[in-house]
Order: sequence, then structure tokens, then C-alpha cells
Amino acid sequence: MLTIKNLSAGYGKVQVLHGIGIEVPKGQVVTLIGSNGAGKTTTMRAVSGMIRPTAGEITLNGKRIDGLESYTIARLGLAHSPEGRRVFATMSVVDNLRLGAFPRYTGARPKGDVDADLEKAMELFPRLKERRTQLAGTLSGGEQQMLAMARAVMLNPELVLLDEPSMGLAPILVDEVFKIIGRLKEQGVTMLLVEQFAAAALAVADYGYVLENGRISVHGPAAKLRDDPAVKAAYLGGG
Ligand code: ATP
Repeated sequence: MLTIKNLSAGYGKVQVLHGIGIEVPKGQVVTLIGSNGAGKTTTMRAVSGMIRPTAGEITLNGKRIDGLESYTIARLGLAHSPEGRRVFATMSVVDNLRLGAFPRYTGARPKGDVDADLEKAMELFPRLKERRTQLAGTLSGGEQQMLAMARAVMLNPELVLLDEPSMGLAPILVDEVFKIIGRLKEQGVTMLLVEQFAAAALAVADYGYVLENGRISVHGPAAKLRDDPAVKAAYLGGG
């Protein structure tokens, strides 16, 4: 589904990623963990076309997407739920969700049944259902985070990039977000998940990669990484 090979990227003269490789097979959840500043968000930005890689190759379903504009990448079925609650503040919850489905109205993505998917999203995110007519800017931070996730799913995507969906959330909402990720996985949604909560991410994921200073230091099946002493010590709170 998604293959990243030898990817390098950065900002101006600052190189953040140094030739990383990641595979996300169809139907799987793959997580990218690592400490602050390791380059996780930069990886997501490079994949979705928000920044241009300086080297390497990214393919989605066999098609090269590195160097393409982000709207073109979205049309190919890649939905990016970015770090930090990027919702359209002056639009209602429902309109934000419809906007997520926009490429389906223009024929850029398979149309399917947008209304049915909207209801499905509401079932998945009951908090949004209660607030469907509320302006997105007046939602709590956690609710906005969920709206950003739900909007990504409304693209009817091949692959969802979830960048820190639990960021800044109260513990009870963090649990809810991980449950929702689990449910999306059951529905067959392929995801690349960046998370600070490495233990929870590895619990929901099939496979994991550890990013250290812009390089992949360890990767393997999530269950194996959970038992890896070095990963435990560095990312899972010791023990
Ligand atoms: P965190 O967990 O803290 O979000 P991360 O692993 O997602 O960290 P990135 O956001 O990818 O890390 O940042 C990697 C490095 O790139 C950091 O040193 C950061 O300061 C730098 N960086 C990020 N965005 C920019 C930018 N727009 N311009 C310049 N440098 C940037």
C-alpha cells in the first residue's frame, strides 16, 4: 500500500530525516514512535506532500507520490489528520465532515454513499453526533482532534496518516481515541500512526518503527517491540 524508501527531508538547510524506510501494508496499522524532535511529524508531512523530500521514493499503491502536490496525493486516497486540531473553525461539525469528503463530490475519489458514511462517522464519534450543528471552533480541544480524525476518514481513504491523535487530551479521551483507532482498524482502514503514547500505539498496531534522530533504529511486529528491552526502557516507561 504505502512504501517509503530511503527518504530524506528537512527544512531549508536542516536535514531531519536521513534515509528512512517504512512499509504500511493494506489493512494494517503501523506506528512510528520516537522522542520529541525525532522527525515523526516531518515524515508525515513528507508523505502527504506538505514538504518536499530531498531524496528517496514514496509510493502509494505502486504509484510514485513524492514530489506531488498534497491535493493530488489526497485524491489518490491519502488522508492526513495533522498534529494539532486543524479544523475549519467557522464551519459546523457536519460541514467540516462534508468538506473531508469533497474529492468524492468532484469525482476525484470514488463517490460511494457520502451520507451513509457521515452517519457511520457519527456512530464512531458519538461526541460529534451530539454536536453536529455546533461550530467547530467552539468544540473542546479533544473534540476538535476527533473531528480532524473523522474528517480524514470521510475522504474514504486508502490510507490515513494520524499524527498524534491523542495530543493534549485528557486520559479518558485518550482511551476513547485509541478505541476508535481499533474500530477503524476492524473496518479495514489502513493507518500510519504517530504517537507519544508508545505503549498504547504498539497495543493497537500490527507493526512498529522507532525513529531516532531521523533514522529508523528498530522495527518489527508490534508485539515484539513491546517486549524489546531497549524499546521498553526508552519509550515504554522502563521495566
Ligand atoms: P514531536 O514528538 O515533538 O512532535 P517529531 O518527532 O514529530 O517531534 P518533527 O516535528 O518532525 O519531530 O521535528 C523534527 C525536527 O525538525 C525538530 O528538530 C524540529 O525543530 C524541526 N522542525 C520541525 N518543523 C520545522 C520547520 N517548519 N522549520 C524548521 N525546522 C522544523
